[in-house]
Amino acid sequence: MEKKQTKYIFVVGGVISGVGKGITTSSIGFILKNRGLNVTAVKIDAYINIDAGTMNPTEHGEVFVLSDGDETDQDMGNYERFMGLNLTRANYMTTGRVYQTVIAKERNLEYKGKNVQVVPDIPLEVIGRIKKAGVIAKADVVIIEIGGTVGEYENILFLEAARMMKLEAPKDVSFVMVSYLPTPGKLGEMKTKPTQHAIRTLNASGIQPDILLARGETKMDEKRKEKLSVLCNMFHDRIISAPDVDSIYDIPLNFEAEKLSDKLCEIMGMVCKKPDAASWNKWKNFAKQAHNNKDTIKIAVVGKYFETGDFMLSDSYLSVIEAIKYSSYAQNKKPIISWLNSVDYENGGAKLKELKKYDGIVVPGGFGSRGLEGNLKVIRFARENKIPYFGLCYGMQMMVIEYARNVLGMKDANTSEVNPNAKNLVIDIMPEQKEKIANKNYGATMRLGVYPAHLRKGSIAQEAYGVQEVIERHRHRYEVNPQYHIKFTEGGLVFSGVSPDRRLMEIAELPKDKHPFFLGTQFHPEFLAHPLRPHPLFTAFIKACTLNAKK
Ligand code: GLN
Repeated sequence: MEKKQTKYIFVVGGVISGVGKGITTSSIGFILKNRGLNVTAVKIDAYINIDAGTMNPTEHGEVFVLSDGDETDQDMGNYERFMGLNLTRANYMTTGRVYQTVIAKERNLEYKGKNVQVVPDIPLEVIGRIKKAGVIAKADVVIIEIGGTVGEYENILFLEAARMMKLEAPKDVSFVMVSYLPTPGKLGEMKTKPTQHAIRTLNASGIQPDILLARGETKMDEKRKEKLSVLCNMFHDRIISAPDVDSIYDIPLNFEAEKLSDKLCEIMGMVCKKPDAASWNKWKNFAKQAHNNKDTIKIAVVGKYFETGDFMLSDSYLSVIEAIKYSSYAQNKKPIISWLNSVDYENGGAKLKELKKYDGIVVPGGFGSRGLEGNLKVIRFARENKIPYFGLCYGMQMMVIEYARNVLGMKDANTSEVNPNAKNLVIDIMPEQKEKIANKNYGATMRLGVYPAHLRKGSIAQEAYGVQEVIERHRHRYEVNPQYHIKFTEGGLVFSGVSPDRRLMEIAELPKDKHPFFLGTQFHPEFLAHPLRPHPLFTAFIKACTLNAKK
């Protein structure tokens, strides 16, 4: 039997970051999968960090946790959601990871006495990792996104790896460049020069793009296409205009309107099936929801990782936002999400009363003491005013602290993360984590990845999931202190999800007759929400918000 040849598509960026390379990679994966190809994706981040786990989300957006516990970049979430994949650490690499392996191999004598050099040994390690990801996934196509933009010092060795792969198998490797064409306000004209320079910079690495996705505020006209074609040495029909869209879920549809999957197949000599009409229509209907729903629900997300200089950033909670959207669309609702800074609620008062205008409140994950007291006030307000509340990880731990303080009368209840000297540490460090912190062993040492939880029959959680056992993704060091389990239970808080050994409390909730939806999860359900498979707990929350809105 003829050996199947794996194809590789590199996605690189030009001019500025943040123009949607991740969504482009995800969408290319989606359209190729829809042509019957087995696809997988690899994200390359050029930083030295071994993973994204030790970074503040305002530095690099959300930390997306994979099933195997790898703490990665938020784009990995987009890949999983668009391509329907369950990725592993083989799909993610950083400069730190690559060097770590090469140095370990050298210490291990694996280079057999050779002089180990930046080139070619670093690119060779990169190539080995890319190929391995393809083998593990038995992929027809591996799509590799190189983070950052061309011309940055950081990603040169990754471009070098890509060039070497192309040299080895020219037909099997192609390049998609996502570049930006600005339209400066004063000029009112779309400019091609920055993209010309970006392509020349890429050329200097020995790489010519096969496809140019020309991002811009508006559609690119013929004149500019012709100019780029001549000046950048590109076939005219391989320059595709990709203007801004209201919803990222339209992008695969827009790409196919430009026949992108046909073009990629042609470039790499791939034979692929006709588009799968059934799955295409499902996506189309889902994508339409983003535009069609007129009926709104107002959700407040209370957090702290928003500020970046003078700008606001909601990237830190990307999966939470998407999970809210999927469950809302499935209820024919359009969610209006407001970002509230927990620190602003520390003094309570009139500010808290403004929360009444929201149909539901979410407190997502977080770390450290900043914003804790503000969040506790918000959670108390949601509980006492019967506003649907959904706490994720730290949001669940804070819900438990709030309940201890204001219902069970433990005024100093706290988490050892914030005040290890408090008498009532209702949230405490997990025993296996103590040693790690004492040894300053912080990276990738939390309780990470998937763990099962048993659900309590008849609880809100169990009814939402419709099963007795679930598997969810985790990222935490602290837990509900086992010494207080009974106190809470006697005091009316229901632990409706517990670990199989019953030691760890995975879900806390108030019974329906006490509150329409007051529920928190120690895990992160947002990581398993999917456009076509909304997460059951988010759906239950959105349903409660809808009922609240009607009142
Ligand atoms: N800081 C908390 C802990 O480590 C919660 C973590 C989170 O929200 N992801 O347990």
